[in-house]
Order: sequence, then C-alpha cells, then structure tokens
Amino acid sequence: MENILEIKDLVVDYGIIRALKGVSLNIPKGKIVVILGANGAGKTTTMHAISGVTRSASGHILFEGKDIRNKQPYAIAKHGISQSPEGRLILAGLTVEENLRIGGYTLKSRAQMNRNFDQVYSLFPVLKERRNQQATTLSGGEQQMLAMGRALMSDPKIILMDEPSMGLSPLLVEEVFRIIRDIKAGGTTVLLVEQNAKKALEIADRAYVLETGRITLRGNAKELMNDDSVKKAYLGE
Ligand code: ATP
Repeated sequence: MENILEIKDLVVDYGIIRALKGVSLNIPKGKIVVILGANGAGKTTTMHAISGVTRSASGHILFEGKDIRNKQPYAIAKHGISQSPEGRLILAGLTVEENLRIGGYTLKSRAQMNRNFDQVYSLFPVLKERRNQQATTLSGGEQQMLAMGRALMSDPKIILMDEPSMGLSPLLVEEVFRIIRDIKAGGTTVLLVEQNAKKALEIADRAYVLETGRITLRGNAKELMNDDSVKKAYLGE
C-alpha cells in the first residue's frame, strides 16, 4: 500500500531531553492512523516535527517521497499538510468565518476558497450558523470544531489532529469521531493523536503505541484493540 507519509528514525531533542528516540511511522494514503501514548510520550512532539513547528535532530520525514524534515512550517503546509492543534488555538478578535479564511491562506483562487467554505460548513453546520460570531464566544466544543474546520480549509492531503475530542461532552465526542470518518471518506488522510483510545481504535486503520519517545507496538487497529497490553494500559480493561 502506498504511504503518503513515512517517518524514519526521527529524533527530537529539547535541550538535553531526548523527546523522540528514533520514531518510525508509516501512514498509508487515505487511511486513519492513530498514535496512542501516555502524557509526555512524545505524541505532540511527533506532530510538531511533521508540521515543522519543532526541529528534529535526525531522521527522515518523507511526504509523497520527498524529505520535508526541518523545512519551514509554511512550506510544509503548502505541500498539503495541515495541523489541527491541541487546545484549539483559535484567533481572538476575529469571527468564525475570518478564522476559517486564515486556514485557507495558501489557496490560489476565490472559487476554491468558496468551495472549501462549502465543504467545511457541510461538515460543521454549527460553524455556518455562527459564522459572523466572534470566535471567542463559541463554546469549547464549537471552538474545537473551528480548529478542525480551519485545518481543513486548505483542502489538505493529510490532516494532523492532536486530541480532537479533548474536553468534549460524550455527545460531541461522538460527533467529532463521525466527522473524522467523513474527512477520511472525502479522501483526506488522517493522523490522529487521542487519549480516547477506544474510540480512536474503532475508527482507525493502523495504530502505533508511543512510550517515552519510542514506538513499542504497531499494527492494524483491530489487532491492537485485542492486544492484552493495550487493553490494560489504554482501554482500562
Ligand atoms: P500529552 O499527552 O501530555 O500532550 P505528549 O505525548 O504529546 O503528551 P509531548 O508534548 O510530545 O508529549 O512531550 C514529550 C516530552 O518532551 C515530555 O517529556 C515533555 O516534557 C518534553 N517537552 C515537550 N515540549 C518541550 C519543550 N518545549 N521544552 C522541553 N521539553 C519539552
């Protein structure tokens, strides 16, 4: 199967702390891949190294066969890699629509911008209803959706989602996972970091377990769901 993204032996240091100790991941095109791991395992660091926000010390990050490691974040975004950050990071002082427009800054035409607005509004009708509202007045769940919507505005080939269900009510968690499925159905590859291991494994195709900067388990998501160590550590069984 064709991998849209291949990470090989990735090492990231924060000063004297080695946060990633040689991480390798294969992300097949059009699939959902989840990274599970406890707090501090290096999940966000992995995402940030891919999007270029964090520099890596060594290794390879191949996107469609080209090494993008340590390129500038804007250049990486231009390749079709988009990040939906942990903790929402919506822009204050701007409306919902203005926040979304910023997500589409790499688009070349107004027509494409309008098409992407339509797509995002059909995935998130609540954002359409509230498009002229100040983004800071959205509820936490709506802000989470805005962060996802903004990441989708560039019509990315792959979206990196860091804890999209964090802090949401059970009903909204269901909604977010349904939307992630829809994003995949639309042809976009998804790399997901999630604390909600059960839900994430249910929708994922592949899964990796990251422990203190190393991959300790990898495989088909259904297989990992039945793995005893995964059940014990991440599924609370
Ligand atoms: P969580 O689930 O808690 O968000 P995570 O798996 O995303 O955790 P990372 O945020 O990637 O973990 O952090 C990996 C390790 O690197 C942790 O030990 C963390 O303390 C450390 N770390 C992260 N960012 C920095 C930084 N800017 N400076 C120093 N150490 C950092």
